[in-house]
Amino acid sequence: MRLPQLSEEEIQGLIAQATEFANGQYERFVSRAQPLTEPQRTMVDGFFSDDVLRDARVILLENESVLNPDFVTELRARGFEFLFDINHLNAVPFREVLVYHETINKRLLFHGLVHLVQQRVMGQQKWLERYVRSLLKTGLHVSIPIEVHAYELDGRYALSPATLFSVEEEVRAWADAGRY
Ligand SMILES: [Zn+2]
Repeated sequence: MRLPQLSEEEIQGLIAQATEFANGQYERFVSRAQPLTEPQRTMVDGFFSDDVLRDARVILLENESVLNPDFVTELRARGFEFLFDINHLNAVPFREVLVYHETINKRLLFHGLVHLVQQRVMGQQKWLERYVRSLLKTGLHVSIPIEVHAYELDGRYALSPATLFSVEEEVRAWADAGRY
């Protein structure tokens, strides 16, 4: 896939737009998002630290969605044709608010929490910046390292939910090795 090359200035502009978008979505949903229910906590207990399980907020959207930010439309027009529709993505994290469309299951819950841990380990702003830069390199959200790792970990959990591991340790190992 040949992707257009953007200048550093353009990339910085996109990161700024993504930040503004994420802040806006956080404000939009934070008051309605709910802490994890007891059954949800039980499902993922042992994989995440108590503060992550305490701070996470979840919202399931039914008759509304997160619309694509303008920069996604612009990037598509410039040749990034395979960029996601954000309303098809599930477990979209805006800080500690995890937004789900139509459905939330164990694996999707886990996936969203992995993103929350990544944001805490890397720092919210750094996470967003890595996300945008990787997206511009690969053009596909499924192949960016932040997502590859989240899919790998939620897959491991789905395959064997009784085999505990620390998501934070896994995320730190990737962050320290510069894999994101
Ligand atoms: Zn994800």
